[in-house]
Amino acid sequence: MGNFHLISQIENYKYLSTELLMMMFFWVAFIGRGYCYYCPLGTVLSLLSKFSGQRIITNQSECIKCNRCNIACPRSIDIKSRAQNGKTVINLRCVGCGHCVDICPTKTLKYTTKFLNWVQEN
Ligand code: SF4
Ligand code: SF4
Repeated sequence: MGNFHLISQIENYKYLSTELLMMMFFWVAFIGRGYCYYCPLGTVLSLLSKFSGQRIITNQSECIKCNRCNIACPRSIDIKSRAQNGKTVINLRCVGCGHCVDICPTKTLKYTTKFLNWVQEN
């Protein structure tokens, strides 16, 4: 009887973990890295970005509206519409991963912080 109880518990955990893995798979496949919204590390990085004055500077004249930056952003920030209007991207959700900067084919985007600005000015 004890063995039966143990085996049924193992079966339950097996089904639960398989379901969780499938949920993760479909989440990543259809929503991208949406889990960044819920990961505590994302929240900590967002707070750091606020205090460091992190921003993505854009250059309106160079943006070819390819949308690669928006696709690459794990926090679903609309970088393209800011870039095509030459506006700076300042967003609390930004974790400063730099994916948008790296993937931009025309080098329209540039990552900076208050400290980096200060270093450049001095
Ligand atoms: S650095 Fe760029 S890609 Fe990364 S979170 Fe910030 S806006 Fe999105
Ligand atoms: S990746 Fe660069 S060129 Fe493409 S839409 Fe974004 S800012 Fe514009």
